[in-house]
Amino acid sequence: MASSLCRRAIFQVSRRPFYMSACQATKGDGGFADPLDHATGLEKAELLAHLAGNDDPFDTKVMKRGPGTKDKPNLVGSYFKSRLVGCVCEEDQMHINWMWLHKGQPRRCECGHWFKLVERAPFPAE
Ligand SMILES: [Zn+2]
Repeated sequence: MASSLCRRAIFQVSRRPFYMSACQATKGDGGFADPLDHATGLEKAELLAHLAGNDDPFDTKVMKRGPGTKDKPNLVGSYFKSRLVGCVCEEDQMHINWMWLHKGQPRRCECGHWFKLVERAPFPAE
């Protein structure tokens, strides 16, 4: 009895049809649409910046510190009035010293380097 139930169940499952369809091509060449066509707002502005040759439109890459004195602080660009900055004070340090930089208030890290926030032109978003 049990074996006939199993056989029936397996037979029914194996007879269930499944459907597959080829991906609908949106362009004549059979490929996917360009992501630039679907992107909006900041994402589109970022993609356009990449196309224009700017690989880091939001300044998220690691930057090397300069002299970092009070007279010549390290300049950190920001589109906002404040920005979170991390300083790896020593080369072999295993943690990052995080600090908030505010517009018009240069700040000194624990290692002695000074940082200053510089305002950037607003990011061109549509
Ligand atoms: Zn530091």
